[in-house]
Amino acid sequence: MPTKKNNKETLTATELKEIKKHLLQLKEEAMARLKDKKTMDMPEAEVGDPIDDASRSIDKEILFELSGNAHNTIEQIEAALCKMDKGIYGRCEYCRQPIPKKRIKALPFARYCVNCQHSNEHRHD
Ligand SMILES: [Zn+2]
Repeated sequence: MPTKKNNKETLTATELKEIKKHLLQLKEEAMARLKDKKTMDMPEAEVGDPIDDASRSIDKEILFELSGNAHNTIEQIEAALCKMDKGIYGRCEYCRQPIPKKRIKALPFARYCVNCQHSNEHRHD
């Protein structure tokens, strides 16, 4: 260990623990959403009302949208948890600078600092 002096953007062990708990909770919620979607996709015994059918297909589109996000979220959360295990959590994957705590707490599975996030959004390749 080169230095024990923590810069103030470095997450403490307690903060990391809290964030991990939060991440696991988010992951559970996202998984529950995915599971809900699967249940909805199961063939139902009682079908046949055309009005019901129409509204159900709209529901499905919304659910698809949601589950797409949930799937994405789970992947990002898992990546974040994996980085915690490796001890590299809280750093921008691009410029390796610590991600400000404020951002980490708002978006615990953030992969980039605000600057890199923006440049990634502008670059489409
Ligand atoms: Zn960065």
